[in-house]
Amino acid sequence: MKTLFARAKDFAERPALSGPDGAWTYRELLERSERTASGLLAGEKDLKEARVAFLAPPGLGYAALQWGVWRAGGAAVPLALSHPLPELDYVVSDSGASVLAAAPELAARLGPIAKARGLRLALTNDLLAAPRRPLPRLKRTRRALILYTSGTTSKPKGVVTTHANIQAQAQSLVTAWEWSADDRILCFLPLHHIHGVINVLTCALWSGAFCELLPAFDADRVWERVREGRFTLFMAVPTVYQRLADAWEKAPPDRRKALSSACGRMRLMVSGSAALPVSLLERWRDLSGHTLLERYGMTEIGMALSNPLHGERLPGKVGSPLPGMEVRLVDGEIEVRGPNVFLEYWGKPEATKAAFRDGWFRTGDAAVVEGGAYRILGRSSVDILKTGGFKVSAIEIEEALREHPSIEECAVVGIEDPEWGERVCAALVLKAGRSLTLESLRAWGKERLAPYKLPSRMLALPSLPRNAMGKVVKPEVSKLFRQPGS
Ligand code: AMP
Repeated sequence: MKTLFARAKDFAERPALSGPDGAWTYRELLERSERTASGLLAGEKDLKEARVAFLAPPGLGYAALQWGVWRAGGAAVPLALSHPLPELDYVVSDSGASVLAAAPELAARLGPIAKARGLRLALTNDLLAAPRRPLPRLKRTRRALILYTSGTTSKPKGVVTTHANIQAQAQSLVTAWEWSADDRILCFLPLHHIHGVINVLTCALWSGAFCELLPAFDADRVWERVREGRFTLFMAVPTVYQRLADAWEKAPPDRRKALSSACGRMRLMVSGSAALPVSLLERWRDLSGHTLLERYGMTEIGMALSNPLHGERLPGKVGSPLPGMEVRLVDGEIEVRGPNVFLEYWGKPEATKAAFRDGWFRTGDAAVVEGGAYRILGRSSVDILKTGGFKVSAIEIEEALREHPSIEECAVVGIEDPEWGERVCAALVLKAGRSLTLESLRAWGKERLAPYKLPSRMLALPSLPRNAMGKVVKPEVSKLFRQPGS
């Protein structure tokens, strides 16, 4: 099977990407990523899986870096634009990155980390202009990508996928959803998360299709691009569909009509990364004419289950196994096996071992099968939240909040919410004589945690509900947030 880069040669003069920093054909992407790879190599023959952590806004520079790291033989570690310094530093240190790279306008954010850790910091504009040098030959078993994901441990874990895993993940979706070189997709999802990196960007580039990268999600901007852009495919999380539906409802009737008919020109709209409420599926069907195709996946496994491209899409269900994936239920838990499944948690052999049972990856998601289609029931841990499609760890947030000078104790829970899926809610016991507002807590937290991890509701309590063993009873905490007027 041809590699991503060999395939790109076949699409040479076709448009590959556009972003705030310009537009490239496949030939230009190949050339610029070759220069970037040469610049990263800096005279070496092969990066030999060295981790290159990089911070670049969605655009050409991001794509050249990701491909450049791969072509130089390194493992790409895309950093999150929304992360404050401590989170960036954690990923750099945990991944053992030996090189940092940044777009020039973001270099100041990585500068202190590079200095403190004595690491090289390369700038995208220098890399893009580097003279071309011979590049190493890559085996598909080589580590290619490390995406950080939250779990039941306090700190996020690095999910390592090889080139073979990434190819399998892309091919599975390209086959199931019939991607072709004529497809055009808009990407506004973050490019440090599987949804944006694999399902949108890599699938598009694997297919010879065109991908337009927006700097971030903004409902009006996305609608405008959908109206103008002749897109054929659209992929988003439920929170995005909710926001787009809200913006559509606020628009005057003739604009609504134009937006709806722009949706009608697309061939497929997909939802995933969090449960799609049936009410939202229906609302979207009414305004766009599309029955959203809901799929299920995870950073560790790529996409595993999907409603059909052709045939009936069942509201509230995530369909059946995608090509190449084996899925089974063991005591109600989804387990997955196949070439899509990741290699390891970076530097955590025990956690990797614990995540598998007889070669099957244990997702921690509970489901039932009804008439051949899976229905997700929820996660096995109350400490994993999904907010706006982001997976976050309650334990990680609690650990950060405990550092606050006014907080004695805290418990973080996810409370169901029509816009966010779940909202991050913090029950707090304050130190004697202290007071705290949500606003000041969020302002303090912004320096330590990504914005989507910050509590958007808080309750100050005299004590936390605990069981006889002294353990906080999270369902009781959740009940407090669900009380009217809480
Ligand atoms: P992430 O690794 O950030 O993509 O998060 C993966 C988790 O998101 C899964 O383990 C599920 O808990 C959840 N998830 C993804 N897709 C769906 C879906 N369609 N319905 C419900 N939960 C989902």
